[in-house]
Parts: sequence; C-alpha cells; structure tokens
Amino acid sequence: MEKTFTAGQFRIERTANPKPKPDPNTLKFGRTFSDHMFVMDYDAENGWRDGRVIPYGPMMIEPAAAVLHYAQEVFEGIKAYRARDGRVLLFRPDMNAERAARSCDRVCIPRLDDGLFVEAVKAIVSLERDWIPEKEGTSLYVRPFIFADEPLIGVHPASHYKFVIICSPVGPYYDTPGGSLAATSIFVEEEYIRAFPGGTGFAKVGINYAASLKAQEKAAARGCEQALWLDAIERKYVEEIGTSNAFFVIDGETITAPLSGTILPGVTRDSVIALLKKWGERVSERRLSIDDVRAAAESGRLDEVFASGTAAVISPVGRLVFGSGEVAVNGGAVGKLSQRLYEALYGIQTGDRPDEMGWTVEV
Ligand SMILES: *Cc1c(COP(=O)(O)O)cnc(C)c1O
Repeated sequence: MEKTFTAGQFRIERTANPKPKPDPNTLKFGRTFSDHMFVMDYDAENGWRDGRVIPYGPMMIEPAAAVLHYAQEVFEGIKAYRARDGRVLLFRPDMNAERAARSCDRVCIPRLDDGLFVEAVKAIVSLERDWIPEKEGTSLYVRPFIFADEPLIGVHPASHYKFVIICSPVGPYYDTPGGSLAATSIFVEEEYIRAFPGGTGFAKVGINYAASLKAQEKAAARGCEQALWLDAIERKYVEEIGTSNAFFVIDGETITAPLSGTILPGVTRDSVIALLKKWGERVSERRLSIDDVRAAAESGRLDEVFASGTAAVISPVGRLVFGSGEVAVNGGAVGKLSQRLYEALYGIQTGDRPDEMGWTVEV
C-alpha cells in the first residue's frame, strides 16, 4: 500500500474567516495559531488517506480515543523562515521525517509513506506563507504530530490514527535588544531522570515531556531556565538540557553525549557537529561526567556550555546550579563558539548566508 505523495494532491478547504495576524513585536512561543491545519487519517484497511488542509479549529475525538489514555503519540518541530528575498525556507525537513519514522516505530504507530511527511509540511506552509512573520528573529513554528484516535481502552496498538500539522508564528527566542544571545542558568537535576536505556529517550513522543515537567518546575524554583539531565543508571553522565541537546567545551574540545538510545537525535545537534568538523574544531560524541564538568569549571577549563534545538537554535549557558553550590561558565558571558555557531546556523536557516551544506529546502 506504499504511495508516493506530492503536495498538490491534498484537498484544500480555505477558511471563510481569516484571523488578523498578530503583532510581531509581542509574539509568545506557541500561543497563536494560523488559519489552517493539515489533517490525514489512517486505518489498517486503507493506510494513510484523505490528506487535507482545512480551517484550524477544534477536532472531535471520542473520550475513549487511545491517545487520551495511553499516550500513543509522536510529534515534531520545524521552523519556516522568510528570507530577505521572499523565499520561504525549511531547515533539513528530511531529518525530521526520518526521526518521526523512528519515533512512530517505537510506539507502534504505522509509519507515514515515503515523502508524505515533507510534502504535508510543504502543503501547509505554502498555504500559510502570509503567517510567517517578517521581523528579525521571528519564524513560523510548524508542529506535525500523529496520535491514536481509535476508541479503545485495551492496552494495545490502535488501528486508527490522525496525522495533523498546525503552525504557530513565534517571536525571537531571546527577549534582548536585537534578539542577541543571552546566557541562561541551568539546574543540574539529580533526582528525576528523562530517559533510560531501553526506554523512549531517542523518540520525540509526548510521554517523555509529561514526565519532565516536575524537573522543569524545580529548575524554575531555583531561578533556572532549564534542567540538565543526567544518565539513569549512574546519575553521573550529562545527557540533555531541557528539550535541547547539550554541548560542553573543555580545553578546546567540544563534547556532546553519544546517541546511545537515551538522547534525542537533534537536527540542530547534527548540524552543530557538522559545522564544527568543517571548521576544523575538535568535537567528540562521548560520555562526560558532571563531576568532570564541575572540576573543569572550578579550575577555569570549562570554556563554554550551550544547548542546541530548533526553538532557540543555540542557547549559551552562563551558570550551572547544583543541589549545593553553583559554578559560572565563561564568567557568565556568551562564549565565542556559541556565538559563531548561532550566527552560522541562523544565517543559513534564514537564507542570509550561503547554504554550502545544502541544508535548506525552499517551499
Ligand atoms: C526536540 C528535542 C531536541 C532538539 O532537536 P532539534 O531537532 O534540534 O530541534 C533535543 N532534545 C529533546 C529532548 C527534544 O525534544
């Protein structure tokens, strides 16, 4: 039942009531949604069918829908940028499609046919191109997700699913003059864990995030933006920062956790590693203990810490807060490599810099 998809074959039903566009100066992350959404259904007999772009609005699902009980769901996150010359650009959407396929497999959701993910993203972004804000640092955040909508409260894989894509215009991640990078404070979480070997850490599935909220609350109570996750077995090796991948620069070596099953394989992470290699920097995917990080900070060898992800691109860390005590990173200032990576990635994503890696896809 494998099909090949092109954006042109989806049915389009335009809204009769377009909403006013939000003020680009006051956009908050993920609170405003565009006029339309993409919806497609799956059932075991017909496979994925009836892809359509329809007005954004509430969806009817039965109270017994499996997703509401056992959380059989995966999601993705991609940004669409408007380049200065008017082109609309996506960043490496094929990587999101591949990751969605691996996430689906982990929670027994039937995979999307080849090409369907990217064509569906292109279809909705193309129709919503006027919703991409133009102000520096703003973009249209695209959220594809797939969930079990079969009325079924037995614990087994459902046979009905929905693939939906919604879009949200978002402001610059940093609330600073000119949207320049600002160093964050990170709480080292030693009690709660995000992911464990054999679990779902490598998959972008909703269940991981419900389980992370408690640590996020703890971090906020300590005046921190995010929690730093340690490994589940020894509570010792650094894994991720909030919903981003984590990088540590010690003695000129940039270190990030290996993709061993508990780490979400970030598109930004992969791009950071590729750029560092291209620039001739020393970069390692290896285990690194939090004790080594703290010792490096205390002896002045911890040059930089930063997080990578679609939302903020690069998020420098200026302070690590522990259960007892804290350390400054790079004197609390934004590091050189963080700044250089941010400018390079953001420049490519927005079409301001030549895309030598062939990463951007025009809609
Ligand atoms: C989405 C996500 C990331 C970042 O992935 P990108 O593809 O770079 O946006 C990292 N860690 C977690 C846990 C995530 O959910």
